[in-house]
Amino acid sequence: NVRVRFAPSPTGPLHIGGVRTALFNYLFAKKHGGTFVLRIEDTDQNRYVEGAEDYIVDALNWCNIPFDEGPGKNEKFGPYRQSERKHLYKQYADQLINEGKAYYAFDTAEQLDAHRKDHEANGKTFIYNWHNREKGRLVNSLVLTAEETQAKIDTGETYVVRFKSPQDETLHLKDSIRGDISIDTNVLDDKILFKSDGMPTYHLANIVDDHLMEITHVIRGEEWLPSLALHQLLYNAFGWEAPEFAHLPLILKPTGKGKLSKRDGDKLGFPVFPLEYTAPDGTISSGYKEDGYFSKAVVNFLAFLGWNPGTEQELFSLDNLISEFDLTRVNKAGARFDPDKTKWFNHQYMQQQLDLDLAEIFKTERSELAEIDINYIALVVGLIKERATFVNEFWGLSHFFFSAPTAYDEKASKKALKEGTAELMQKVIEIVTATREFTVQNLQSKLKGWITDNEIGFGKVMMPLRLALVGALQGPDVFEIMFMIGKNETVKRIDALIK
Ligand code: GLU
Repeated sequence: NVRVRFAPSPTGPLHIGGVRTALFNYLFAKKHGGTFVLRIEDTDQNRYVEGAEDYIVDALNWCNIPFDEGPGKNEKFGPYRQSERKHLYKQYADQLINEGKAYYAFDTAEQLDAHRKDHEANGKTFIYNWHNREKGRLVNSLVLTAEETQAKIDTGETYVVRFKSPQDETLHLKDSIRGDISIDTNVLDDKILFKSDGMPTYHLANIVDDHLMEITHVIRGEEWLPSLALHQLLYNAFGWEAPEFAHLPLILKPTGKGKLSKRDGDKLGFPVFPLEYTAPDGTISSGYKEDGYFSKAVVNFLAFLGWNPGTEQELFSLDNLISEFDLTRVNKAGARFDPDKTKWFNHQYMQQQLDLDLAEIFKTERSELAEIDINYIALVVGLIKERATFVNEFWGLSHFFFSAPTAYDEKASKKALKEGTAELMQKVIEIVTATREFTVQNLQSKLKGWITDNEIGFGKVMMPLRLALVGALQGPDVFEIMFMIGKNETVKRIDALIK
């Protein structure tokens, strides 16, 4: 029974890398008929940001990858916020201490700093492990007597509980994406598990919760790979079976150089957040949602950050992704973030959507459309969507379907208006007026017939005609436009041009 979790720390807005981690967990869970858990890792109260948890939940919901279990939902293994599980962790720290697998350390920050400097002066790095911990310079329960240790605790000295990492061992780790990894335990330091303020560190809380929540697979970002050794050692120390691990490749900047950061978006002009985010200082960072991206396009794009199906196919619905997704097809190498590719996906999804659905969005975006029949808007959308990446481009591409041009583009006018234009347009008005069955076909054959019969030259008619209808020389087929706006409006607009 597969159980995976997404375990963000609510220290700010979830960026696109976090959503990618959530998505891969979701896909893996759904593929195996498993459960996708959301756990909020908020043990570090100093970094807690108000509203971050809501933001995370909203982002998952917007992407249509909701969690099955988590805060306020199917709380079988709850609570799912670590701050509400505080009481749980101490007993596990105590257990390790009692079994000699962890110890109290009372060293102050200044003392540790001094040791670090000493080492550096000799060209060495200071590691808090067997190299140093029992040589008497450090103040911990391995060098103090049990009475001395207790006395310090009783007098309220601050302490931390450190994990006692093994000496001279080779640790064999397994990662579904990276394969087998061997680590010399002598390079590990004795990481802090618990602090005297009653709070566990990330490492202890994370392992304890993954165990208690019966997590079978840990899928997370590569930045956690350096913690894997400690995590495996903790599972060994508790005598628990470790979950399978998969560390997802880094997401790189568009240049391919360096890790994509939250700041890159504002700096380089593309969203790195799923939803708009207002920082505590009031600055707003744009989000995919507010910028007009379809969540399906974003999800499709994210799936390709580190994964590929092994075929040329690029468009995948969420259901397709669920059936195709496979951890063995996730790359080790960093995935370059390409904001233009998201746009490409958005354009593709735009074409797939029903014109009526797009029309609904369009209508809510433009007050000019409030009174216009939705079916008419849908027809317009059908004519222009091919040229749009976002719905917010629709108005610029289609306003002339809804209202007459109020001005004519200067350059276009120069190009289109020649001697004799007025007479030609007068003739067009006559032909249009005489067209009884006002269809695209009829308009086309009548006007084109007249042009060829009289050897007029296409541009001489079509350019001013387009200018009259659109106000510029762009837009969809002229005959489509005439048909859409109708006979009266067509005549009116041509008339207005030559008056
Ligand atoms: N709380 C960690 C984070 O913010 C979770 C890492 C993990 O998945 O183990 O990413």
